[in-house]
Amino acid sequence: MEKTLLELDASEKRFEVRTVDEEGVIGVVDYAVRVIDPLRPDCMLIGTGPFAGSKLPGVNRLTVAGVSPLTEAFHVSSVGGAGYFLSKTGVDFLLIKRRVEVDGFVVPVIKNVDDSLSVEFYDISEDELMDIYQEKGVFSLQAHLLERYGDEFKVGDEHLLMRILAVGPGALTTKMGAIVTTLIRKGKFLPNADGLAGRGGMGSLLAQTFRIVGIVYGGNYERKFPVDLSDKGALNGIFQRLFNDGMVAVVKDATKKYKKGTLLSNYENSGSDLPMFNFNYRISSEDRERLYKLLVDNLLKPFSENVVHRTCGEPNCPTPCKKVNDKVKLDYEPTNALGPNSGIFVLEDVQKVAKKADICGIDGIELGNMTATVIEWVQRGMLGEEELGMNATVSFDPHRYTLDDSKKNMQFCLKLIEDIAYGNTEFAKRLGRGIRAACKELDRVHEGGRDGAKFCDFAYYTPVGRENGCIAPIRYRVPGAIVVPGVVPGKFHTDYSYTEYIPEELGKISAERSIWEMSAENLVFCRFHRKWYEKEIESVFKEVFGMNVNLYEHHRKLLRKIIEFNERLKATPMPLETRLSKDAIKTYIMEHNVGDAENWIEKVERGGDRAVEEYWKRAQKSFNDLITG
Ligand code: SF4
Repeated sequence: MEKTLLELDASEKRFEVRTVDEEGVIGVVDYAVRVIDPLRPDCMLIGTGPFAGSKLPGVNRLTVAGVSPLTEAFHVSSVGGAGYFLSKTGVDFLLIKRRVEVDGFVVPVIKNVDDSLSVEFYDISEDELMDIYQEKGVFSLQAHLLERYGDEFKVGDEHLLMRILAVGPGALTTKMGAIVTTLIRKGKFLPNADGLAGRGGMGSLLAQTFRIVGIVYGGNYERKFPVDLSDKGALNGIFQRLFNDGMVAVVKDATKKYKKGTLLSNYENSGSDLPMFNFNYRISSEDRERLYKLLVDNLLKPFSENVVHRTCGEPNCPTPCKKVNDKVKLDYEPTNALGPNSGIFVLEDVQKVAKKADICGIDGIELGNMTATVIEWVQRGMLGEEELGMNATVSFDPHRYTLDDSKKNMQFCLKLIEDIAYGNTEFAKRLGRGIRAACKELDRVHEGGRDGAKFCDFAYYTPVGRENGCIAPIRYRVPGAIVVPGVVPGKFHTDYSYTEYIPEELGKISAERSIWEMSAENLVFCRFHRKWYEKEIESVFKEVFGMNVNLYEHHRKLLRKIIEFNERLKATPMPLETRLSKDAIKTYIMEHNVGDAENWIEKVERGGDRAVEEYWKRAQKSFNDLITG
């Protein structure tokens, strides 16, 4: 399948456009595993999918692929709607390379006007960048770039479609930096229409390895397809043939789970079982119910009363799943991590920490997973104010918790986030290297912890490889999330339903899910559309491109390639290593009837950690058997 590739070398300010037509390359990840050398990863890939630029809904995301500084393994992250604007440059894949070390940073500006592609490199010194960040971090950088280039993305009085990817201060100092982008309409930012490619620190990779802190892109290129996919009549015809119904009706039905937005629907679905107080599942059921009621009254109700509905920028999606309240967009996962899981229960407090994370350009899920752990360390008296470099007033006892405590924890988190983003203290710098590295360093400095407790006991993460690779799991208290998190952990590449499985079933069903989730990453689809997409996308491929592709097999093979890639990096999945993560599995098994064939409750009672490791090994084996078999 032919792709237009733009190769950028920001260090030498060179670019080259070429056509790529390699067998087996239909999507971004296919090409990324081919061009990135795991032993010398000197490039990363940003790209859009085969249907980008069309009016087919859910196809216009942007995928970022490379070796994650956080997991130290192959990783992909994506952001909604941003691929549509890349299609306006006529470019499918953006290959970012670096040949030499440089001082300062660069912003490539990619523009296509009337079939003429141009690339300019805008230099920013580190001092200038830090000045820009002062007011509103990554949003100030976006504003600076729009002011500098907005008028250049005009033809006469007409604004071209454009978008800006940018990183914040957290991408310069930590391994958790996100890539942030806000929708632009007619030369102006749409307030709070922000999207993030957050997971895996791909913003840190872009800034620290390739010295790129932003990419400005857009134009008026119209992609051509063998079938006219800008014609709603033609698309409706395809949907009528495949689903016996019109496109909007099919897509609305398939995405109805997300109509309320992820925040409200997920809090409702998980009820009092949702993660709170650093994944504490030893909270009594009475306290859990009381705490959940606090959340309903002080977070969910006020949020739902005053909500604005937005799309991610996807031009033709009938399900505007982004929910903005009081000028802040809140999604379930970062809001849980930085909210109740960090002891913050009041809407305006959650909004403040979520906004702070975004301003600093740090993945809110990773950050909230970390703030929860730090608050627990402080509550347990393991850290003093001197080491923290800040006032250590927190309240993290679920039994005594009242609403006044929300503000205390929020203020603590705001200061901690600022310190992490700017590397203000030695302690904050340790956190910036990732929670697994921080635990190891703190346990070493404190010679095995404090008062018999190790720092790592209270951390919750998926370990990758033997060193410091790790990532915060998705915010679901289910074994799939942490036992078989998938070839790309920290995402939904697993079974995260509240179903009780013996490990072999869990491994198999999670591998099946991983294959389909990888197809959405590779072809750059919105996973919220998976109910129609997974059913008929092969037929759409055939109708549009005349290609017969077995997408299930294609992506099973692709996962195999990623496993081999990670093996060469020695970044393979590791058994759970902290008390908190092992406890999460134990308590889940004890509270649920996990399988009939074997009595896992008895196994855990007798074997403790050994039973958890056996569950992990058996689920991992079954996962790998399905992918590699
Ligand atoms: S469902 Fe939401 S994230 Fe997906 S394409 Fe539509 S608006 Fe974007």
